[in-house]
Amino acid sequence: MKTLLKQYFGYDQFRPLQEEIIQNVIEKNDTFVLMPTGGGKSLCYQLPALKFKGITLVVSPLIALMKDQVDALQSCGIRAEFINSSLSAGEIQKIYEETEGGEIKILYIAPERFALKSFQAWVQSLPVSLIAVDEAHCISEWGHDFRPEYRNLRYLRKLFPKVPLIALTATATDKVREDIINQLELQEAKIFISSFNRENLHLSVVEKKNAFPKLLDILDKYRDESSIIYCFSRKETEKIAEKLIGNGFKACAYHAGLSKEKRKKAQDSFIKDKVNVIVGTIAFGMGINKPDVRLVVHYTYPKTLEGYYQEIGRAGRDGLPSDCVMFYTYADTRKHEFFINQIYDQELKGRAEEKLGEMMTYGELTTCRKKYVLRYFGENFEKDNCGSCDICLTDKIMFDATVVSQKILSAVIRTENKFGKGYIAQVLRGKKNQKISANGHDRLSVFGIVRDFSENELGQIINHLVGLEYLRKDIGKYPTLGITRKGVDFLKGSELLEIPKPQADIIKEIKTGKFDYNTELFEKLRELRKSLAEKANVPPFVIFGDQSLQEMAYYLPQNREAFARIGGVGVKKLEDLSEIFLGTIVDFTTKENLAPIEIPDKPSMRTTKNPKVETALITQGLIAQKIPLAKIAEKQGLKIGTIINHITQIIDRGEELDLSYIDFPPEKITEIASAFEECGNERLRPIFDCLDGKYSYDDIRMAVILIKNREK
Ligand code: ADP
Ligand code: MG
Ligand code: ZN
Repeated sequence: MKTLLKQYFGYDQFRPLQEEIIQNVIEKNDTFVLMPTGGGKSLCYQLPALKFKGITLVVSPLIALMKDQVDALQSCGIRAEFINSSLSAGEIQKIYEETEGGEIKILYIAPERFALKSFQAWVQSLPVSLIAVDEAHCISEWGHDFRPEYRNLRYLRKLFPKVPLIALTATATDKVREDIINQLELQEAKIFISSFNRENLHLSVVEKKNAFPKLLDILDKYRDESSIIYCFSRKETEKIAEKLIGNGFKACAYHAGLSKEKRKKAQDSFIKDKVNVIVGTIAFGMGINKPDVRLVVHYTYPKTLEGYYQEIGRAGRDGLPSDCVMFYTYADTRKHEFFINQIYDQELKGRAEEKLGEMMTYGELTTCRKKYVLRYFGENFEKDNCGSCDICLTDKIMFDATVVSQKILSAVIRTENKFGKGYIAQVLRGKKNQKISANGHDRLSVFGIVRDFSENELGQIINHLVGLEYLRKDIGKYPTLGITRKGVDFLKGSELLEIPKPQADIIKEIKTGKFDYNTELFEKLRELRKSLAEKANVPPFVIFGDQSLQEMAYYLPQNREAFARIGGVGVKKLEDLSEIFLGTIVDFTTKENLAPIEIPDKPSMRTTKNPKVETALITQGLIAQKIPLAKIAEKQGLKIGTIINHITQIIDRGEELDLSYIDFPPEKITEIASAFEECGNERLRPIFDCLDGKYSYDDIRMAVILIKNREK
């Protein structure tokens, strides 16, 4: 296995679970894989494909990604092709012939092909050894990303009763997982689930104050690399992009309000490294499989941790250290509340507020951010210091906080547990404002008794007291502080309290811990990669990943033999690329008089992960404005089915949507409702069959949503 791994892909080590999964596949068992994006799922079927005698079929939903994958395989010397609607009849015919001639090892197929009887007959005539269903969550009607074409995959098991199947996804709830296994009829599938922890992602939060200069500082470090800046509104994306361009960055705005061509151009330029910074709404990211995004910034903090984790998941898919920076200010809460206030159902509204509160807690944490996030997703993180969040990486200078903490707790008691952090800090600092005077709090004994800490520093100390559970924070619209039993005990007792000293309001240094390669050479190699990619009309990462270039710029290989030991250099790339890359490296080392470094056995790569999803914020906003669904689809250049996906997704997240305005013929609803009664509501297909195909799946899905909504 390891030999094949090096020979074709140029890697020395498997990533976590890859080896076990490959072993299971090779033993011809069915397999289910839940692994974060960037975890290395593709290899789990690509490597067995090389081992098996026959052909491996891969079903994958996104046409654009199919081409990238096939380009990448071909660049490693693997005979791979794809069949989808982007090819002409002639091109497809040619692939048919090559496949029949046994030349193709891995064939990517768009799911809709399986609906064609002629195609079914054709694939059945092939010596198929393995079938992989990538992005398998698309098969589930109840998932967020359901694709009707994936229905056709139910033929797979019938067509190939004896061929092992492997289903892979980065996102699946238990329900969706079961659905996948049932629908694909996986037999006693072995299930592999890997950790959500992505060790190469560095998390940090910076105070959103003088935000733009801070953003420039952060970006400066990544001037020539790829970054994504997420903004709250379309207008903001355009404004920031413009300002960045003014500061010499190759930046570009991206949001759903742009024309399809403009969006495509932005994506393309980003993938081809012609634009370094995408300033987008969260509409940006789906269908982007760029492995070397080094920085994801949230210019406004997001409204749920799920969303946040998804979005930062787009960083560092190649496993190299990457930064995720969130700008946080309490003031941005209002932007989210605008949407939350449109939620009609009180319970759901409460849940949305709770989620927002959890996100705010993340922004104000004084303990490890990774621990918090992983615990949120139900994983226990044992280490005390994650080594990859701003909190764990900041040297802590402790100080005696006994007196100031007593003052804070007293102020909370005197103001009757009714006020938030900012207010308490103002009272302690003796700030005279209308609210404080109106409440008579300027007459309290605690008014103005703190002189040696600023409001901001008091805020940080309060965060610690919340972390220590001396204070509890009531989550909600205006998070108020209340004293806890533990806090009362502390006030009464004589215990000393030491906590980390508050930090001055400076941006914390983001440490990435990359290994110390020659950056000048790295840039030269990137330029070379870019020009080769342009000539071959493939994305640059198909030539070599950043990891490979960094290794070259560190070890400075001088000959073929040394070059072959660089990660990512397999047999084919050694043949095709060593000469030209060695040329640049040798030139540079000679000119700079540098000495090469012996390449040791390299330690294994680490796992990375990201569940894939996108929010449907725009759809949500338009629904709130009671825009007809057809219009919503049209405005965004999407299909109705996608809008229905958005609605499912929003409801799944527990948010309320007012759908009462939707103009859906009542007789359709009645008819579908009775089919629904008759055939159960767990599956769409029986309902569809029950109605003899009279209504489309979109109609049925919409009716089901409306019926369920009415029942609530
Ligand atoms: P996923 O489909 O799980 O998101 P991919 O299969 O696209 O992940 O792999 C992500 C990146 O990791 C790719 O650039 C791939 O080449 C790289 N990769 C996968 N396995 C290994 C490995 N064993 N060693 C080094 N890099 C790997
Ligand atoms: Mg993948
Ligand atoms: Zn940490």
